[in-house]
Amino acid sequence: MSVYSINHIMQVISNYINGHLVQPLSGKYLDNYNPATGEIYSHIPDSDESDVENAYKAANEAFKSWSQMPSEQRFKIINKIAELIDSKNEELAIAESIDQGKPVWLAKNEISRAAQNFRFYATAAMQFASESHNIDGHAVNYTIKAPIGVVGCISPWNLPLYLFSWKIAPALATGNCVVAKPSEITPMTAFMLSEICNEAGLPDGVLNIVHGLGPKVGNAIVSHPGIKAISFTGGTATGRHIASVAAPMFKKLSLELGGKNPNIIFADCDFDKAVKTSVSSSFLNQGEICLCGSRIYIEKSIYEKFKIAFLKEVEKQIVGNPLDDNTKIGAIVSNQHFEKVLGHIKIAVEEGGKILCGGKAVNPASNPGGWFIEPTVIENLNAECRTNQEEIFGPVVTLTPFDSEEEVIQMANGTVYGLACTIWTENLGKAHRTAASVNAGIIWINCWLLRDLRTPFGGMNQSGVGREGGYNAMNFFTEMKNVCIKI
Ligand code: NDP
Repeated sequence: MSVYSINHIMQVISNYINGHLVQPLSGKYLDNYNPATGEIYSHIPDSDESDVENAYKAANEAFKSWSQMPSEQRFKIINKIAELIDSKNEELAIAESIDQGKPVWLAKNEISRAAQNFRFYATAAMQFASESHNIDGHAVNYTIKAPIGVVGCISPWNLPLYLFSWKIAPALATGNCVVAKPSEITPMTAFMLSEICNEAGLPDGVLNIVHGLGPKVGNAIVSHPGIKAISFTGGTATGRHIASVAAPMFKKLSLELGGKNPNIIFADCDFDKAVKTSVSSSFLNQGEICLCGSRIYIEKSIYEKFKIAFLKEVEKQIVGNPLDDNTKIGAIVSNQHFEKVLGHIKIAVEEGGKILCGGKAVNPASNPGGWFIEPTVIENLNAECRTNQEEIFGPVVTLTPFDSEEEVIQMANGTVYGLACTIWTENLGKAHRTAASVNAGIIWINCWLLRDLRTPFGGMNQSGVGREGGYNAMNFFTEMKNVCIKI
């Protein structure tokens, strides 16, 4: 077990435009905080439309040669990015941990998943083929899948490099050029990616990264007439706004939005596994994962037993210095989000919720100025209250008993969201019935966060529009053209 140390030199982040690390045209910068200390540790460009315009021009200029490059050559460059990310895993993970607040051991895992995204799509591009349909021997159709041109990728702060690469990799692999914006709250590893791309030999202008505020930089990307598709991951309210700007311009849109995911524990589950995994699905990354199960529904006959075992496991979750390998729960990403999560806990108490553990901010001795919140478990709330309806996106879960399969399905489906659901039962029929009845894009049975990059990823209802993952993302980033030939 190790404790990593911090380099105290103030870092200045640059935009990455046309292969160069450049300042924002305005010359203005924003403060970037280390959530584990509450201190400013870097400055990031406060870019605006003029920087996005330059990024667009560079991308547009690069498009012809990048899209026409032989796929094997493109594969080699994108695969090289994956190799370089892997070779710098520890460096990137420490940077991610300082920037985001997540434990460094978790960041290492996510950085290697970011490399996997590039590797997966580099290889997938070599297999991505046209389709052909024969009409009874007298005509043949073939469908060309052509890159769109310049596309926009906008990502959130919770899994910074992982989600950034989840969008950029398929966009590049299918021959598009990209204007991308990471969250202004967690820009560091996207900045480091700029340097990696140059080292990998990515041609100038193929990927452009513009840092800055969502309403300025994000909005300039979404409303730019030359940027033909937008892949966005973030909150539902932002997604709604983006759709209102992009839809009248007839842009292709992929929206991966918020969630309020149910975790259903049937009495016939493998109890120990259900308890242990539910602790992870509640609190991994401080509960700041869109796939976390924040509403835990437990069949009444095992409610008390589950509650006691769950609380016992939660007690072992050490909250503290993200750079210490013993830490299970790190810092909350920003002061604003820290206040938001605490505000939700207050609402839960006002709604009659009983706090079983946690419920407060903590100041670990190692990090007195940071934004930390104890893992919080609440019971005694109905399914309709705000705590069980609104996405909190922090280390806060509710426990609610249920009587029957029908009742729990109704409760699970009783929010505006539909992203993910976890089901715990050893009864095969019940598992399939519940999976078929719950409205969510992703269902896990007797596991959580078990990911296969080939599978469709995305949500229903207000959790999103479209699916990413595998060929879904590649279809999104291409325009299909059918050619019919009479024989
Ligand atoms: P936000 O919606 O606040 O921000 C996401 C990104 O959009 C950021 O880069 C942000 O920039 C940018 N942005 C903000 N306003 C605009 C705008 N007007 N136009 C264009 N871009 C804009 O989400 P968070 O960063 O707070 O992330 C948390 C949310 O993301 C949660 O709701 C979570 O559920 C969701 N999420 C969904 C996932 C999924 O796959 N469904 C996965 C992970 C997270 P800036 O930060 O600089 O303001």
